[in-house]
Amino acid sequence: MMSPQRAVSYLELLAADAVQVAVDEPLSRHNSWQIGGPADLLVEPENSNQVVAVMRFVQEHHLPLVVIGQGTNLLFDDAGVRGVVMKIGSRMDSIDIVGTRIVAGGGAWVPQLARLAMRSGLSGLEHCIGIPGTLGGLVMMNGGSHRHGIGEHVVRVTIVDQDATIHQLSAAECRFDYRYSALQERGAVVVEVELECPVGHLADIRREMLLDLRERRRKFPRKLPNCGSVFLSTSAMHASVGPPGKIIEEAGLKGLRCGGAEVSRQHANFIVNRGGATSVDVLQLISRIRFEVRKKLDFDLRCEVRYVSPSGEIGPADQVADRMFPAG
Ligand SMILES: Cc1cc2nc3c(=O)[nH]c(=O)nc-3n(C[C@H](O)[C@H](O)[C@H](O)COP(=O)(O)OP(=O)(O)OC[C@H]3O[C@@H](n4cnc5c(N)ncnc54)[C@H](O)[C@@H]3O)c2cc1C
Repeated sequence: MMSPQRAVSYLELLAADAVQVAVDEPLSRHNSWQIGGPADLLVEPENSNQVVAVMRFVQEHHLPLVVIGQGTNLLFDDAGVRGVVMKIGSRMDSIDIVGTRIVAGGGAWVPQLARLAMRSGLSGLEHCIGIPGTLGGLVMMNGGSHRHGIGEHVVRVTIVDQDATIHQLSAAECRFDYRYSALQERGAVVVEVELECPVGHLADIRREMLLDLRERRRKFPRKLPNCGSVFLSTSAMHASVGPPGKIIEEAGLKGLRCGGAEVSRQHANFIVNRGGATSVDVLQLISRIRFEVRKKLDFDLRCEVRYVSPSGEIGPADQVADRMFPAG
């Protein structure tokens, strides 16, 4: 494999108008848990053409590629990533609203998007106001809250596929389901999203957003680094055993600690970094929680949080936790 230095010059050559590149960039700076070793290369494109150039580059050189937004749903390994991490963030965060249509870049900041929709009198994104990620990440995860997902409002998603070609997908082709989109299997980069939102009453939209933010402030840990809800919370699960936070709390696991990682004392579906937590600490804690909940309730908690391996594979963190700590 070529040296990162050579890779940098090649990338700069390819994407003549300066894809932002960093070598040996600590991934702990690019996720909300503040965990993870260095990426060989971290690139931040500012348009679709640069994304295409990076995709061609990684294909030609058979390099692992990981696409990220704000890293608010990701656990990076302490060894980092031996390949290219492409961040779709503030350099691709345009938001245009015409009538009831919103066209935004994959790097658009979700709370800002929700706020601008509100100011234009558009409803439907109230549930997104407190989600601290990018639109690309939200679409990929079909994220949302209060039983909603962003997929409900998606009309079209523009992606750059692994073979460096640009495609437009309809909402049906994205096959949105609970915290799932077919994009997760495709390995494509979300560069732009078109949303359709109905006209609503500004005062009602604002009230709902304020309520959501107030509830989050009250319930979620805010001072210590975390990655939001660690475990998936489905409606089937609510009906049978209840939400993950309640189950974990009832299992007496609030405050349980592995190294620097701790089950939040404020909300048991959060794992907080109390300082110096490693990916192994978090994975071990996930495994301990799953083990205890299985023992007490015969229920298998699944992770919403995704783990990124040093070779660039991304998948639900529980799968890796089980492999690493089979006995909990
Ligand atoms: C305090 C807190 C509260 C949260 N509350 C919620 C909530 O209420 N509801 C909810 O659903 N989530 C919540 N989350 C989780 C997280 O914010 C969402 O999943 C968010 O949508 C992830 O966006 P991101 O930009 O951080 O994506 P990342 O974490 O960077 O990535 C998530 C996944 O999307 C992929 N991805 C990211 N951007 C792109 C792109 N442009 N193209 C292709 N793939 C991409 C990554 O490869 C990865 O698989 C919360 C997190 C925190 C820290």
